[in-house]
Order: sequence, then structure tokens, then C-alpha cells
Amino acid sequence: MLIRLCQHSFHIYDLLILSGGLILLVYILLPHRFALRYDYIDREHIEEALQPATIPNISMPQAFDCSYKEVIADSAFVYDVFHRERIHRGEEIRLGGEYQPEDCNARFSTAIIVPYRDRQEQLAAFLNYMHNYLRLQLIHYRIFVVEQSDRKPFNRAMLFNIGAKVAEAYGYPCLILHDVDLMPLNSGQIYVCSALPRHMSSALDSWRFHLPYRTLFGGVVAISTTHFKMINGMSNLYHGWGGEDDDLYERLKIVGIEICRFDPAYSEYTMLKHKHAIPNENRMALLRSASLRMHSDGLNSLVYKEVERRLHSLFTHILVET
Ligand code: UDP
Ligand code: MN
Repeated sequence: MLIRLCQHSFHIYDLLILSGGLILLVYILLPHRFALRYDYIDREHIEEALQPATIPNISMPQAFDCSYKEVIADSAFVYDVFHRERIHRGEEIRLGGEYQPEDCNARFSTAIIVPYRDRQEQLAAFLNYMHNYLRLQLIHYRIFVVEQSDRKPFNRAMLFNIGAKVAEAYGYPCLILHDVDLMPLNSGQIYVCSALPRHMSSALDSWRFHLPYRTLFGGVVAISTTHFKMINGMSNLYHGWGGEDDDLYERLKIVGIEICRFDPAYSEYTMLKHKHAIPNENRMALLRSASLRMHSDGLNSLVYKEVERRLHSLFTHILVET
């Protein structure tokens, strides 16, 4: 009897170990779980990949241009308490959340566009950290927060289209489309456009710093205003969570524009915690028609109402009805 009992418990124990090991093996070896290898621009070639361009009417206070060599070469972890907890030297930032270095002439102007609704705490954390972070990079930038005022499902891509139109009117040659809950960890992920549209947040902590799939083009991306217009911006039809970033990738693919990424050591981001949204059930069907819709659904079909535009000390607020 005793022997039989021992044998029995041994079987269960054995089975548990075996199935645990099997699950672990599948998890590690499953080829499609992560894009384990992908092309990226290594640190030596980052500077030459950048595309210098500023807004036309920028003031040039100095006789010489800023140098970006050190910004890139000295990339370091800066997501620390010092940079996160409060704004330093806030008087340097102009009304509307704009900054330009004074000791040298910036060679880049970037509009950072943040789609937003109901994430007050995240926005506060974002603005604090990002203004500290961005001023390490000697660039000219402005933060635009585009807020959806209605209660319809959130339309991230449409808010980007609106932000792009506004930024273009201000003369910005480069757009960075930026989730409010993502923060870059290292100072060298320079917030300017590269010659090719760039996926910036390719090593995200919530993905264990891996890229889930090679064509992912969401989170934080940099794209020149010229390229954004060439693909008619993003789709206005993705209501709710998911698909709009893949649609953007499809558009670029259709017109033959490749994307790029920087060395993963430059592309680490952290995502602030939030509940997962319910995915939009239409997203796959919409995505299949990306090429058919591209020329009729986007910047040229954008209809919205600007409820208010207000210059806050840390950002330009565009409140819209979609
Ligand atoms: N967002 C927002 N309010 C919402 C939903 C989304 O402000 O109710 C914005 C915000 O910038 C957020 C981005 O859209 O970072 C992407 O949404 P979410 O973070 O839910 O997507 P996920 O991280 O799950 O891909
Ligand atoms: Mn998120």
C-alpha cells in the first residue's frame, strides 16, 4: 500500500516537472514570439542617418551650429529620479512647450505629437520627464497634446493626423508620433527624423525589451512631414484599440518607403502601467483594405472640430471633437 502511494505521488510530481519544462521550451523556442533579429543602425552610423531641418523662421542666436556627436556617443541611462520627479530650469521652456538651445543653433526642429484622453497622471509624468530629457539633446522642439473631447471610441490615428496638420502649419519638418505612456530610458535616442521613418520604441520593457514582430511601427515613431503627407497621413477609420499602427506601416510599404531603427541600446523605453483596452473587432478587416483606402482615407478626408487651442507652460493643447 505504502509503495503504491509513493509511486502515485512520484508520477504526479514527474508530470508537473515535465509539463513545466515543456511549456518553458515552447516559450523559448517558438520562432514567432519575438523578432529575434532585425536590422538596425549601429551607434557609429546614427549621426549620418539623421536629416537636419528646422522650421523656416527659427531664430539663430549664435554663430555656430550645435554638435550632436556627444549627444549620441555619450548616451546614458537617464530615467532616474532626478529627471523624473520635477522640471529643472523650467524658465527655459517657452509657452506652448517649445524649447531651443541658446548656446548654439539647433539643426533640427521636431514636433512631438501626443494623442490623449483621460490619462492625466501619465501626461504629467510625461511632460516632466520629456522636457528634462529633450533638453539634453540640443534640438528645437515643441510638444503638442491632441485631446479627444468626445466620448466616442478613442481614435489615436485621427489625433495624429490633426496634430500633423497643426505642426505643419507651424512649419515643423519632422513629426514624432508619441504615446503618452512611453518614456525613453537612454539619452541618445535623439528626437529628430532620420532619412527613413524610424520606429523608436523597439526595445520596450513590457515586451521584455524585445521586438514582438518585425513590422511593428507603433508606440513612438519619427517621420518627416514630407513622408507623412506622401502617404496621406494615417487612417481615420480605426476607432478603438489596435491596427492603426500596422495600417501606417502598410502605407509606407505600398509607396516603397522602408523604415529604420536604431541600435536596441538606444531604443529602450518603459511603459507606464495601464489597463488593456478592448481591441477593435474591425481592425483586421480594415487592415486588409489598407492599400485600397490609402488615397481616400487620411489627411485628405480629415473632418474634425477644433474646440480649443491653448498654450500651456509645458505643451500646446489642441482639444478636438472627432
Ligand atoms: N490613449 C489615451 N487615452 C485612452 C486611450 C489611449 O490617451 O483612453 C493614448 C495614449 O497616448 C496611449 C496611446 O493612446 O499611450 C495608446 O493607447 P494604449 O496605451 O491604451 O495602447 P497599448 O499600450 O495597449 O498599445
Ligand atoms: Mn500603452
